[in-house]
Amino acid sequence: MLKGKVAIVTGGTRGIGFEIVRKYLANGAKVILFGSRQETVEKALAKLHEENAAWEVEGMWPQLTDAAAVEKAVLEVKEKYNQIDILVNNAGISQSTPLYQYTPEEFDKVIDLNIKAVFYAILPTAKVMKEQGGGCIINTSSMVSISGQPAGVGYPTSKFAVNGLTISLARELGKDNIRVNAVAPGVTRTDMVAALPEQTVQAISSKIPIGRVGEPEEVANAFLYLASDLASYVTGEILSVDGASKA
Ligand code: NAD
Repeated sequence: MLKGKVAIVTGGTRGIGFEIVRKYLANGAKVILFGSRQETVEKALAKLHEENAAWEVEGMWPQLTDAAAVEKAVLEVKEKYNQIDILVNNAGISQSTPLYQYTPEEFDKVIDLNIKAVFYAILPTAKVMKEQGGGCIINTSSMVSISGQPAGVGYPTSKFAVNGLTISLARELGKDNIRVNAVAPGVTRTDMVAALPEQTVQAISSKIPIGRVGEPEEVANAFLYLASDLASYVTGEILSVDGASKA
């Protein structure tokens, strides 16, 4: 479904991002995953190559919250591969600190990675996509971008912003043949969920109509669809993959 396409996936070393990378590779794309540390990037690459030595995948670890570092990495990808067809902004952090314990530093940390870094990655990539005649950007939102959550206000705030950025850029970049969408996962079985208090996970899970949390691969399937030509007329969409959690 993605033969000949070049994709950047941020936060591709584990969880949902890792499954997106696998899914894209299995569907013929060349993938450059952006991780936070050389060590975790190399571990992820080794795992992927163990699965299929022929997969064309490499890793970089620019500081995503540093606009200049991200621009440099994006331009290196463009230089090497001559094109960037897909950008997946997946890296993100969550927390569930109650308001009265919240610090401004904690809020900044969430906003810096979940919103600013998304913008920083889009800025140079969209220019490359415009020049080459089009492309596809997929951001990672969350079901809490619709429902909010009862603690850790920075996280849902950041995901509401991701939706706003997605819908607005879809409107702005349509004329350049750049589609901009987001996937809004519900509770998905990754490290991020493991870090939540068990009570929180149970409370959320008991409200999921489909009766279970999602698997990373199920979320990655939505990223595959949106990146593929099957979604050629889909832009400005926030696609929920949440077992009807927010319903
Ligand atoms: P995870 O914690 O398993 O993985 C997060 C990824 O982001 C990792 O690859 C990590 O290396 C990367 N990352 C974190 N901080 C980084 C930084 N400063 N620089 C570069 N990379 C960094 O998380 P996940 O559950 O796979 O979440 C992926 C995305 O999905 C996030 O945007 C998250 O908000 C969203 N999401 C997750 C769930 C869920 O239940 N897991 C639900 C809704 C939305």
